[in-house]
Amino acid sequence: MLAAERDAVADACRRLRREGLVVGTAGNVSVRVGDLVVISPSGVDYDELTGADVGVHALDGTAVEATLAPSSELPLHLAVYADTEHRAIVHTHAPHSTALSTLVDEVPPGHYYTAMFGGPVRVAPYATYGSEQLARHVRAALEGRTAALLSNHGAVLVGAALPALLDRTAYLEYICQVQLLAGAYPAPQRLLDEAEIATVARLLAGYGQTPTRPRDQG
Ligand SMILES: [Zn+2]
Repeated sequence: MLAAERDAVADACRRLRREGLVVGTAGNVSVRVGDLVVISPSGVDYDELTGADVGVHALDGTAVEATLAPSSELPLHLAVYADTEHRAIVHTHAPHSTALSTLVDEVPPGHYYTAMFGGPVRVAPYATYGSEQLARHVRAALEGRTAALLSNHGAVLVGAALPALLDRTAYLEYICQVQLLAGAYPAPQRLLDEAEIATVARLLAGYGQTPTRPRDQG
């Protein structure tokens, strides 16, 4: 059942590990296909993860075909899928995203890449991992955005499909790293305003509609 999607989720987990966006078995990845959610399992070393280890669950969390327990953040994934059009979710414990999540309530728009996420990325208030409360906080922080930081925890990104979402995961980590570097310097930071973020969002959307063009976005 959904073998291609299960392989894609396993591949995505291994890529997060390779790129240093998760440590150990932390972080998780899912895709939605119709009324089913394909999500990485809990506690399996990503280096050894295969599509067969990835489970399929209903939108209420019931296991449909799963040999292992699902990620402990299944409630978070279900909360996003319950009332949005998103079809893929990536959750990381990337170090710069996590560090910045302990310092601010919103990622300041210091870089134009902010436009990739629908505007300044919010930080969801802390709640214990795997809890319904964390799921509610994250769902609220994602309103009108395609990414959120989880205070004292990590980051989550949502979108239409996994490959593009994994690319954006690295960009989010980059802008968080930039903010941390800028924040270490004792001078007021120049930030971009809402109008400029909207202008860049239109430009990026234009690039996306031209698949033959390299995705270099300046
Ligand atoms: Zn986590």
